[in-house]
Amino acid sequence: MYADLHLHTYFSDGTYSPEELVSQARASDLCAISLTDHDTVDGCERAQAACRDAGIEFITGCEFTVEHGHRELHLLGYFLDTQNAPLQAALARHQTARRERVRQMIERLNALGIPIREETVDGLAACRAPGRPHLARALVQQGYCESMDTAFQTYLKRGRAAWVAKEKMTCAEAITIIHAAGGVAVMAHPGITHMDDAIPELAKAGLDGLECFYTRHSTAMTERYLTLAARLGLLVTGGSDCHGMNKGRPLMGGIRVPIEYVVRLKAAARVAA
Ligand code: AMP
Ligand code: FE
Ligand code: FE
Ligand code: ZN
Repeated sequence: MYADLHLHTYFSDGTYSPEELVSQARASDLCAISLTDHDTVDGCERAQAACRDAGIEFITGCEFTVEHGHRELHLLGYFLDTQNAPLQAALARHQTARRERVRQMIERLNALGIPIREETVDGLAACRAPGRPHLARALVQQGYCESMDTAFQTYLKRGRAAWVAKEKMTCAEAITIIHAAGGVAVMAHPGITHMDDAIPELAKAGLDGLECFYTRHSTAMTERYLTLAARLGLLVTGGSDCHGMNKGRPLMGGIRVPIEYVVRLKAAARVAA
């Protein structure tokens, strides 16, 4: 009985539809999944319906890009009421900011002599939460870059010529919004984020859990975060961060979170609600 609580669809920067995601989850023998698209819960309804048909437990989710003391981290919200008005308002605001940011990055690419068009990117990002992966795909498809990774390294990474900063909520704001929508707030991939020093203060500010099991965490990292979670009384989650075929192969199935952790997460969400 295993779960994967960190997955993306084409409602943000993944390649799978919600139905494809669920059929892959079934093929990976998972009994519970959460959909955690960036800044949107638009795929949750379809994923939930597909999970119902497949006999898989579905947990609503979302991955928020937030800042804490000028540093960026990703916050996962689970068991969210996707209809919650303040949550929807915050998501709408960030989706608008994402579209504006993509437009600005296209302008920068144009200024660099790459005549990529807004319509092309819009066609590749048929979602309300477009981002750099959609631009990267357009650059590859139009023959300006060899791979998505090259596109990031050459143009889109922080500090590169076409990069534009993203508007972010503070971590405290996002925690408040997640809690108000009945959810629990979890720090995504702490081993990649390098903000261990801030975890105790974030826990005091309402952070509920740590994503200990993660594709790019070494065994030592996983052990370290499990120990830290226990010491700070934080919940434990995990997921593959599968974006479909974005990174060449699907990551789903690579992380298998024992269902006990999901049971505890659910109990915490119920208490909070
Ligand atoms: P954005 O939210 O628009 O800033 O884009 C960030 C997303 O880009 C991350 O969530 C990853 O899915 C993706 N990403 C970051 N670096 C790379 C890379 N080198 N190759 C492919 N995708 C990447
Ligand atoms: Fe992503
Ligand atoms: Fe992330
Ligand atoms: Zn993610």
